[in-house]
Amino acid sequence: MSSLVGRALNFEIVEAALKDFGHTVACAGKRIFEGGSVRLLKEGDRPNTFEGEVADDNEKSKTHHVILAYGGTAWNLLCTCSMGAECKHCYAALLFLSKRFKKVEIASEKPEPSPKKARDFFALVADPAKLTERQTDFVERLDDFYQTHQDGDKVNGRVLKALFPKWPEADYWLEIPIAPRIKLSRLQFWHFLVVNLQAQKLPIPDYFGESNDTSASADLIDKRVTKSCRGAQPRISKLYSLRTIPNRIASRWDRYHPARQLASTRWVPANTQKRVAAVSGFQQRKGKRKCLI
Ligand SMILES: [Zn+2]
Repeated sequence: MSSLVGRALNFEIVEAALKDFGHTVACAGKRIFEGGSVRLLKEGDRPNTFEGEVADDNEKSKTHHVILAYGGTAWNLLCTCSMGAECKHCYAALLFLSKRFKKVEIASEKPEPSPKKARDFFALVADPAKLTERQTDFVERLDDFYQTHQDGDKVNGRVLKALFPKWPEADYWLEIPIAPRIKLSRLQFWHFLVVNLQAQKLPIPDYFGESNDTSASADLIDKRVTKSCRGAQPRISKLYSLRTIPNRIASRWDRYHPARQLASTRWVPANTQKRVAAVSGFQQRKGKRKCLI
């Protein structure tokens, strides 16, 4: 594996070892890590040696024992699975170790003076040293997601589900407008996500503490709500204008127009107001929901 001579084990050395894996094993290992299958990783008796337990993909009660040993120039990565060495379990454990080094590195850096000028999402975390390895990974992936958005890529439910596993699959292809043409700060971007999670009644990660309070971005988010809802108005106005169509024309229109059932209600005065109000209300609700998510 890696051969970085004469250096003590650190984040860069672990990252270099991860890059030595083939694509297939790396993808499988990453999936295992993100699924929370790395149960344990502790320092061994020898220096630069770690021992871990990684759950089996199919049989969660079964675990594979892995050993990650760095000899100063090369790695020895062993596993009790059928592959025996440098397998997806080793990759997952090594990725876990990478996150551990990452948070130590982040915690040792000077904190940012203001969350509004945060240069990465770790600056919004009160104490990065208290993050777990998987939480560290979440914060890193959130930063990648932010960069993707800033580059102009669209955000949909599928993208959010990768970050928030409880995001409903029914909303997989739903496009999520997060101020696509505005250069958002990380804090503002996070506030959009918080509002979306709230709309879906999903739990909001608490690593960012007070930064979960979205009131500082309320104007920005409200403007988007108002702008997106404007599209519903013409349809509502058209509905009201039906009341002015002469009876003869209206009866023909009623017969052939796809919305004839809706139009026909105007011949029953008592129901008309209720029906129009109900449809208007529905359009407004629909519009509002669209802009929130
Ligand atoms: Zn293995």
